[in-house]
Amino acid sequence: MKPIIVLSRCLNRERVRYNGGLINDEFVNKLENYIDFITVCPEVDIGMSVPRAPVILVRLNDEIRIIEPISQEDFTERMINFSKNFLSNLKEIDGFILKAKSPSCGVGDAKLYSQDFKKYIGKTNGLFANYAKEFYPYLPIEDEGRLNDYWIRQNFLTKAFAYADLRSLKNNFKKITDLIRFHQNYKYLIMLYSPNNLKKMGSLVANWEKLGLEKTFEKYEELFKDTFSKRQSIKAHINVIQHIYGHFSDFLKPKEKRHFQTLLDKLREDRIYLKVLLEFIRNFAYRFEDEYLLSQKYINPYPLDLEVF
Ligand code: SF4
Repeated sequence: MKPIIVLSRCLNRERVRYNGGLINDEFVNKLENYIDFITVCPEVDIGMSVPRAPVILVRLNDEIRIIEPISQEDFTERMINFSKNFLSNLKEIDGFILKAKSPSCGVGDAKLYSQDFKKYIGKTNGLFANYAKEFYPYLPIEDEGRLNDYWIRQNFLTKAFAYADLRSLKNNFKKITDLIRFHQNYKYLIMLYSPNNLKKMGSLVANWEKLGLEKTFEKYEELFKDTFSKRQSIKAHINVIQHIYGHFSDFLKPKEKRHFQTLLDKLREDRIYLKVLLEFIRNFAYRFEDEYLLSQKYINPYPLDLEVF
């Protein structure tokens, strides 16, 4: 199942920016074959025209408002109503890719101004992005600028494809073996985000008869969302890779072991991309015909074609 991602409409879609412009983003382009997009332009969708005078975020007492400085028209209520309505009507989504720096869509990098519109006082979420985070705290929400970073992109894709997989399981879930297989495939990926949740989820699945099929799935879904709302770290990757290494280390020659340790040290120092280690593991999984490892989502979290670095 393809992930379903909410996309700012000015990214590779329509000329809806305040100046009538469109952003052509290479990565969004690359995703077209692998993702189903739902587009949104909060500003146009609340009735603003194209082109239009730009709006800005302004701090008024304890509130952040979205205002057009020349006319001083305040769009805050309209934007809040639209955001709540749009977000609560989304049925199944796996993440958001929003436009960086926008007062509506920006993810943490929209400029915030003083009450007189003159002084820049910091950065914050765009108004729509802020509600997206509030409604879907467990989903990956990024902007096209942040997705140029290898780790942020890797994390975003991993989570979006994991949520799409969970949706697919939920829609076709009939027997406990479906969940057992799913959990087996996700073992190392769950370990990456939360070794603690891995234990809880393993015990939940093993003792499913206590709660029954439906309740077990509900609880599993809850823990899955909690797991994938966390961050990954290089330290956590190294822990997972060392566990996986245990599958085939006994069969390696001393020089291969030394080479593996060198790669691991480089990853620890952030001197190589994770994909180098993953390729190393995949090669050995093929060589030793380790079907268990080959089925692990950790080594194949999303289509290889999306690795562009
Ligand atoms: S940044 Fe958001 S509000 Fe602005 S044009 Fe793009 S989609 Fe519309």
